[in-house]
Amino acid sequence: MKIFIETYGCQMNEYDSEIVSTILKSRTHEITHQIEKADAILLNTCAVRENAYSKIYGRLGELTHFKRANPKLIVGILGCMAQNLKEDLLTKKKLVDLVVGPDAYKKLPSLLEEIYGEGAKKLSEITLSEDETYSDVIPERDPNGVNGWIAIMRGCDNFCTFCVVPFTRGRERSRTVKSIVDEAKYLISQGYKQITLLGQNVNSYKDPETNETFTDLMRAVSDLEELKRLRFTSPHPKDFPISLLELIAERKNICKQLHIPLQAGNDRILEKMKRTYTKDEFLKLIAIAKKIIPNVHFSTDVIVGFPTETESEFSDTLDVMEKSKFSMAFMFKYSERKATFASKYFPDDVPEKDKTSRITRLVELQQETQWKLLEGEIGTVQEVLVESISRKSEKDFIGKTDGNLTVIFPVVKGVKIGDLVELEIHKASSATLFGSIKGDASAFSILQENEINF
Ligand code: SF4
Repeated sequence: MKIFIETYGCQMNEYDSEIVSTILKSRTHEITHQIEKADAILLNTCAVRENAYSKIYGRLGELTHFKRANPKLIVGILGCMAQNLKEDLLTKKKLVDLVVGPDAYKKLPSLLEEIYGEGAKKLSEITLSEDETYSDVIPERDPNGVNGWIAIMRGCDNFCTFCVVPFTRGRERSRTVKSIVDEAKYLISQGYKQITLLGQNVNSYKDPETNETFTDLMRAVSDLEELKRLRFTSPHPKDFPISLLELIAERKNICKQLHIPLQAGNDRILEKMKRTYTKDEFLKLIAIAKKIIPNVHFSTDVIVGFPTETESEFSDTLDVMEKSKFSMAFMFKYSERKATFASKYFPDDVPEKDKTSRITRLVELQQETQWKLLEGEIGTVQEVLVESISRKSEKDFIGKTDGNLTVIFPVVKGVKIGDLVELEIHKASSATLFGSIKGDASAFSILQENEINF
C-alpha cells in the first residue's frame, strides 16, 4: 500500500511519524508524499489544545473528496486525539476507518491490511502500554537533516490537572542509555550535527536496567566526539538537578539554553495545577541556572485564565516573566481537555474576554523582553549552526545560536547547511537576529541591500 502521513502537534509526534514510517516500510508498504496517490491517509494528531482538535476536524472535511474519488481509501487517525476521542471519531466521523493510539503503532500494518478493500469495516487499537518505548525501532531520518530528535522516554506520571498527556500517552517509561547512545551514533553517522533528547519530563528519566539518571545520559551522549550540539526538552522545574546545570556549563557541545515550563506564576494557581513548585522556587531555579551557566537563555510555556485565576493572581505570572527574561515563550489561553482532572472538577470559569486581555498583555510583555534581549546581542559574535535556506529568500540562510536564537544571514560561497559558522550580529527584531559571516564585508553589504525583505 502507498501511505501518506500528515503530522500535527509537538516534536514527539514528528518523531512518532518517523517511527510509523519505519514500521510500515519494514512490512513493504511505501510512504508517499503525493496524497492523491495514497491508499491510506494517516493523520498523526495532537490533543493538547482546543485548536489542535479544530484543525483535525477541518482537515477531515477537506479529505472527503479524496474518499469520494477512491472509495477504497483508508483514512486513519493516530496520536493523542485518537487515544482521547476514539468513540467520537469512529461513530460521528463517517470518513474515519481506523483509530490507533501512540502505543499501538507496531499493530498498524496488520490493521491496515485487515481493513484494506473492506468498505465499511472500521478498526481501532488504543491500548496504553506500560513498557512500549519503540527502542527497537530506529526511525529512518531525512538524509539531509541537521537536527535529529531522539525520544528517550514516553508518557508522564505527573498528572498536572490541565494536561491530557498522562491519559493519551500513558505512564512514564524510559529507554536504556545504551539504546539512546546507539541511536545518537547512528544519527551522527548519517551526518546529523545536533541531537535533541525528547521526553515529557526528562528529569524523571531513569535507565530501566542501570538506574542511570538524565544527567548520566546527557554526559554519555555529549561524550560522542563528533556531536556538535546537544539539546533537550522538556524538564520539569520541580526536579531540576544542579548536577545537570553544572554539566551543561562545563561541556562545550551542550547548548546553553533551557526550556523551563512556568505555566503560571501564582502559588494558589500552581497548586491547583498540581505543578508542585512555588513562584519563589521557580525564580530561585532561574537565578541558580544563571549563576552556574553564564549567558544561558531560557524559554517557557505559560497558560492564562486557568479556572478561578483572578486578575491579581495573573499579575504574579507577569512578574515572573519580567524577572526571568525568557528569550522565547509559548503562551496559551486555558482550554479544557477531556479526561483531565481540571475538566472534571474545575469549571472553566474565567470569562473569554479576561483570558484575551491577559494573553494580550502577556504577549506584549514577552515581545518587549525579547526585543531587549535580542538587541543586546547586536555587536556580538555568535557561533551559529546553519539549518536551512530562508523560505522568504533563497539568498539567505537560517541558523540557530547556541542559545537557540534564530539568525538570518546572507548565503556565502563555501558555507553549507550543517556547518557551524561564526557570525557578527548587526541587527535584531523581537524574534530574529540578522548577521553576516565574521569578517565578511561583502556579506554585510548584501545584508543591507536585503534589509527591506525582512
Ligand atoms: S509534566 Fe508536562 S506532560 Fe506531564 S502532566 Fe505535567 S504538563 Fe503534562
